Amino acid sequence: MSFEKLGLNQSILSAVRKKGYENPSTIQAKAIPQILAGRDLLASSQTGTGKTAGFTLPMLQLLSSRTLGKKRPIRALVLTPTRELAAQVFDNVKTYGENLDLRSTVIFGGVNQNPQVKAIRNGVDILVATPGRLLDLHNQRLLSLSQIELLVLDEADRMLDMGFVRDIRKILALLPNKRQTLLFSATFSDEIKKLTKEFLNNPAVVEATPESTTVEKINQRAYQVDKKQKSDAIIDLIAGGKWQQVLVFTRTKHAANRLTQKMVKCDVSAMAIHGNKSQSARTKALAALHSNEIRVLVATDIAARGLDIPLLPHVINYELPNVPEDYVHRIGRTGRAGASGEAISLVSVDEIAYLKSIEKLIGIDLPLEVIAGYEPTEKPGDIQKPKGNKPNFNKRKPKSNNRNFRRKPRN
Ligand code: ADP
Ligand code: MG
Repeated sequence: MSFEKLGLNQSILSAVRKKGYENPSTIQAKAIPQILAGRDLLASSQTGTGKTAGFTLPMLQLLSSRTLGKKRPIRALVLTPTRELAAQVFDNVKTYGENLDLRSTVIFGGVNQNPQVKAIRNGVDILVATPGRLLDLHNQRLLSLSQIELLVLDEADRMLDMGFVRDIRKILALLPNKRQTLLFSATFSDEIKKLTKEFLNNPAVVEATPESTTVEKINQRAYQVDKKQKSDAIIDLIAGGKWQQVLVFTRTKHAANRLTQKMVKCDVSAMAIHGNKSQSARTKALAALHSNEIRVLVATDIAARGLDIPLLPHVINYELPNVPEDYVHRIGRTGRAGASGEAISLVSVDEIAYLKSIEKLIGIDLPLEVIAGYEPTEKPGDIQKPKGNKPNFNKRKPKSNNRNFRRKPRN
């Protein structure tokens, strides 16, 4: 498959060539023709598979195919969850659109709004925005969304995770009903399907799941370990095996923080990334792992999602994900210069059901093994749950403005 065959015009193709891409990625090859045909679209594929160009290229083509009035109302809106992602998308729009007569700008919170307002006043065809700043400027009547023809919800799963669903609903209510809507996501969860039903009109659905051969190539092992032994066991594995560049996944940010602290105490250099850390802090931590400044990066699924993670020799699931697809995303990060990497899961007795649904999804049996010295003793009833996510009001003394007592989105 080549970019030429996807129906893109010469101006766009030459920008793509300049960028150095030879062939479209799977998700690009599947998504681009559907978008050019004018259809609503739900597209899901792992992080790092080129979703940005997957919507940017056809968006540019659709917009440039119609001549524009002088006023340039906003015709395309791209929503992203964070300012860093908004800036990345905007960069892509500029790069691929350099040969076209289209204008674009980006708006996000945390900075002075005046330059953003000025850019919009000058007329833009494409607006890339985070939901909060967009609503803010709209409420001040500084922009109009009444001429939107194309809406892109990028990283839609992260937007949901970050609690943006109400903002998204508000924004959708401001858009014309007659429009094309594209939803891009790294996962294909029930929540994403619900959002799709609510906002998309008879969408084409395209997916690029990692090839099963990739999963098969990874050396996967599952160890049954008692919950209260897991932190000692993982430190022993990493220190004993003299492993470098280890990516560890936890389910919650609390677990990520706790485990990181314990590792550092035991002289295993580590950093944590999760939803409370900024994108730039996450990128820095990843760079530190890659350059061997630290040995271990402890991440939640959400934190890992927006990152372009290079292949690493070791991935450890400290806790299994409760969404089996996340397991595939996690272990897809292992591998080393052509050779296969190693993915290890520490499974406590209460997680065996998660392991079963993972085995079903990947079509591979992962027999439970035992780490010498960490033979499991816990029985299903021994483990209290759920810990960490829900505050226990009886145990802790409430402080007047303690935000931790409010329910927050899971990360
Ligand atoms: P996603 O949104 O799916 O996580 P991105 O759009 O951020 O992925 O792209 C990930 C990386 O892949 C970027 O560095 C991008 O420049 C690169 N990329 C995108 N499309 C292609 C392609 N067709 N060929 C080679 N590299 C590509
Ligand atoms: Mg993306």
